[in-house]
Amino acid sequence: MKVEVEVVRTRITLACTECKQRNYNMTKDKKAHPDRMETKKYCRFCKTHTLHKETK
Ligand SMILES: [Zn+2]
Repeated sequence: MKVEVEVVRTRITLACTECKQRNYNMTKDKKAHPDRMETKKYCRFCKTHTLHKETK
């Protein structure tokens, strides 16, 4: 039995706030995160964990 789940997933890009490099492509649940996401992730350009923000 197939279960249909309607999930609104949007493709977003996460950019490092330090060097502005776009390091991550991911999808997010727009219902769970209606605002711009900010998350700490490893930046290979800064060689450390920095704050990454959703960008268009
Ligand atoms: Zn960086």
